[in-house]
Amino acid sequence: MDSAALGEHTPQDFDRVLSSMCTEPHPSARDAATTFLADNPGDPATYPTVAELEEGAVAALGDVVGLDDPHGYVGSGGTEANLQAVRAARNVADGDVNVVAPESAHFSFQKAADVLGVELRLAATDDDHRADVDDVAALADDDTALVVGIAGTTEFGRVDPISALADVAANVDARLHVDAAWGGFVLPFTDHDWDFSDVDVDTMTIDPHKMGQAPIPAGGFLARDAETLDALAIDTPYLESDTQPTLGGTRSGAGVAGAHAALDALWPDGYREQYEVSQANADFLAAELVDRGYDVADPVLPLVAVDLPDAEFDALRERDWRISRTASGELRVVCMPHVTRAMLTKFLADLDELQ
Ligand SMILES: *Cc1c(COP(=O)(O)O)cnc(C)c1O
Repeated sequence: MDSAALGEHTPQDFDRVLSSMCTEPHPSARDAATTFLADNPGDPATYPTVAELEEGAVAALGDVVGLDDPHGYVGSGGTEANLQAVRAARNVADGDVNVVAPESAHFSFQKAADVLGVELRLAATDDDHRADVDDVAALADDDTALVVGIAGTTEFGRVDPISALADVAANVDARLHVDAAWGGFVLPFTDHDWDFSDVDVDTMTIDPHKMGQAPIPAGGFLARDAETLDALAIDTPYLESDTQPTLGGTRSGAGVAGAHAALDALWPDGYREQYEVSQANADFLAAELVDRGYDVADPVLPLVAVDLPDAEFDALRERDWRISRTASGELRVVCMPHVTRAMLTKFLADLDELQ
């Protein structure tokens, strides 16, 4: 690489990054991404090798989410996958439709609703930040094309009652989408009901570029039935392949090959070990914060949300901790693979110095 062109710019260190949902890629995923940088999975007849890798990655994602014969692709991220889930539901249904999601849903659903001209109805969450099923049921009606459940919310790491949401969806003849963009690579090692084998899920978002330790851009869109991809397919006159279900045209082979390599290296044992380490770190941090008198949302998954006064939050940011807050103001610490016990200990020491 011509490093002069980058001047003083070097990639960001992860050693103070606490609120990000991205992480350092697995080394073999990084290598694979570099190797396939110029291959375009959007044109599979011209680039068959990367297309084969994509089939392998989708099959492996199927294993992660309990689906034997998955239909889907590796796109740009969770935003695209969520948009495609809404688009598929809209295309399968007729007329003016709406989508019902909990207010904890990622902001990508706002983008999807905006782009697709679909009404988004946001249901309340309960005291534990999970979708309030009664409110979802109250908002759903004959025009509801899609009910959304979140398996690992962005702000609190909560898992919605997916089975109960499936019942609501079935009652109004709507589809069910599960957004496991962040949670999908830790939930297989928990007792939650969230995947295609547990519940009658139609589509799912699961991002290899978050807990999956793949390089960006790698987002997974998965469907139980081939008809879902048919509902998204567009004719592609100038390509050798006839149709394209993806939102992007030209896509990065880096994302596809990186996702394939990460899954190959880590599913299931590597991801299980990472989940156990990350969850133990979250439990450690939560306990340490409770000891110091802070109000902490119990880390159901490896994400700690803590009520921290503004002055302390600002002072920690001034010490270069890369932290962010929920809409209601809690500091979020996402225990990603790069977040080690040593980092958390340093963070707590900085917090103690502020007292
Ligand atoms: C991060 C996230 C998204 C968006 O994914 P991108 O890859 O950033 O587009 C969607 N849903 C959830 C639950 C997320 O945590």
